[in-house]
Amino acid sequence: MEMMKTGIAYHGNRMVSHFRDDIRDIIAHNCTYVVHMFSENDYMRHRQVLKDLVRITHEHGLEAWIDSWGMGRIFAGEVSGWLNEYPDSRQVLNTGKSVGMTCLYSRDYRLALQDWAKAAIATEAEMVFWDEPRLYFSSSAGGGEPVWGCRCARCQARYRDTYGYAMPTELTEDVMEFRHQSALDFFREMTDFVQARGSRNSLCLMPSTDARFGDRNWDDFAALPAVDNLGTDPYWYGQSIGVQGYVADWSRRLLETCRRHGKDHHLWLQSFAVPAGREVEIVMAAETAYAAGIRNLAAWGFRGSDANDYRALRPEVAWQAVGEAFRRVLWRW
Ligand SMILES: [Zn+2]
Repeated sequence: MEMMKTGIAYHGNRMVSHFRDDIRDIIAHNCTYVVHMFSENDYMRHRQVLKDLVRITHEHGLEAWIDSWGMGRIFAGEVSGWLNEYPDSRQVLNTGKSVGMTCLYSRDYRLALQDWAKAAIATEAEMVFWDEPRLYFSSSAGGGEPVWGCRCARCQARYRDTYGYAMPTELTEDVMEFRHQSALDFFREMTDFVQARGSRNSLCLMPSTDARFGDRNWDDFAALPAVDNLGTDPYWYGQSIGVQGYVADWSRRLLETCRRHGKDHHLWLQSFAVPAGREVEIVMAAETAYAAGIRNLAAWGFRGSDANDYRALRPEVAWQAVGEAFRRVLWRW
């Protein structure tokens, strides 16, 4: 029988004594693993603390994942100061403006992120988790041309080499393919790096099929040899969609992709920005995903993301719903 896995995203606390209490709360809410954020600030300030958090997680019989949260700002979460010191690594938009996100072809950034990965692996977590990678994209409010990256000198030179003509400022089919290939090339190198050091890779892609973020073809990411686990996060609160249909659709799509490539999967539940009175939808989402075949569910995040501005309106109730959702999918026989 396939073992159900249930994970919880953990951040907002770096006091080891506090985590000793939290891990008991996490277990009481039926979690089998903890996704620890390892942001740039943590990387600079809390390397030993993260090792301690992972060790305590293991001591309680749970697995640990380490999340590339906010590193270079191409991942979800957190701010990054690294680009202040490496302005040449910034993405340049099609408008010519440079922004505080890294270009995926920046050699300096790839080396910096490899150093981060070494520190992540040194925590002895079971999984390195690459969290919602994205390229800059903003659709124009007035219905005009979208604004996107990256069109830096480095990318322009590579584009010309690949396609034989100058990189357009419009988001053409070739540009979309170039962006997609840049994300693939980047994660091929990063996941190979992690695998070569004996650890495993999980990659979470946002639930979209358009050209926005450079992840338009999930199959290409699932096919990367060192990607062990592929996930997605169909967050439904804040959108005018029904939770069950939305979660079922993305669960099926994820499972089909992972089956085609023989990879493990995971799917995120939303326990942040939960409106008061709609917490039960977390339970509905979990049961829907389970019925579709999902056997690895994670929730963002701990205690209804109480430590963030985007927390649930009633964090304690959302946390209770997560516990109930996980109880229903975990204790089956
Ligand atoms: Zn670039």
